Amino acid sequence: TRRPYIVGNWKMHGTRAMLSEARAIDRAAQRHMKVEVALAPPFTLIHPIHREAEQISVGAQDCHHADGGAHTGDISAAMVADAGAKFVILGHSERRQDHAEDDALVRAKAGAALAAGLRIIMCCGESAKTRESGRAVAFVKTQLKASLPSPDDVPADLAERITVAYEPIWAIGTGNAATTDDIAEMHDAIRHLLVELYGEEQGGAVRILYGGSVKAENAAEIFAVPEVGGALVGGASLTADSFMGIALAA
Ligand code: 13P
Repeated sequence: TRRPYIVGNWKMHGTRAMLSEARAIDRAAQRHMKVEVALAPPFTLIHPIHREAEQISVGAQDCHHADGGAHTGDISAAMVADAGAKFVILGHSERRQDHAEDDALVRAKAGAALAAGLRIIMCCGESAKTRESGRAVAFVKTQLKASLPSPDDVPADLAERITVAYEPIWAIGTGNAATTDDIAEMHDAIRHLLVELYGEEQGGAVRILYGGSVKAENAAEIFAVPEVGGALVGGASLTADSFMGIALAA
């Protein structure tokens, strides 16, 4: 089985003053090689962190779907790769909400990222309203199926290149993580979908991360859930102490 994959998403946090924290995370990761640690800082910190990092991989939190052109303020997949990014987070609920990204756009970004040689972390997750209505599993399957690259468009080593992150919107930044039962049910459904889309061998090997209020205190029980291959961590990834507390639980 693969190493647990622990990814920090710094969101819109971090100036160069945070480089010392990234350094501390990198040093700690060198002492915990059984875990694969990665960090997605804001665009402006990708290159400075990449330059210093010896162990962790650095990624972006978004990229544009086009190769280049007249798109003021946007950043292409090739640009983040050039800055040192090895992966990009796509389809995060905050991008879907703040920037009205729909499944088709997210899928186009996935195609651009893979073509630029990046790995992708494809996010999915339902709102509180959808969960209360009992349609969470159906919603997430539909969202993922429309956002992931279609089976005709995936690289041969897709299990290395594609990771899925289940992040229920109501669990993000609330201190209220999903229950292990809810995580188990959703991750099992996602695994079935991945096998249906990409086949037993590749679809069975794609890692599925959980995200939403993961912290050192609840990480061990979440990592013990079948089909949880790691975590996508927001708030608790901002300090080396709290982030590596999670990695240690894996
Ligand atoms: P929190 O860990 O702050 O809940 O954020 C989760 C998240 O959105 C990571 O992408």
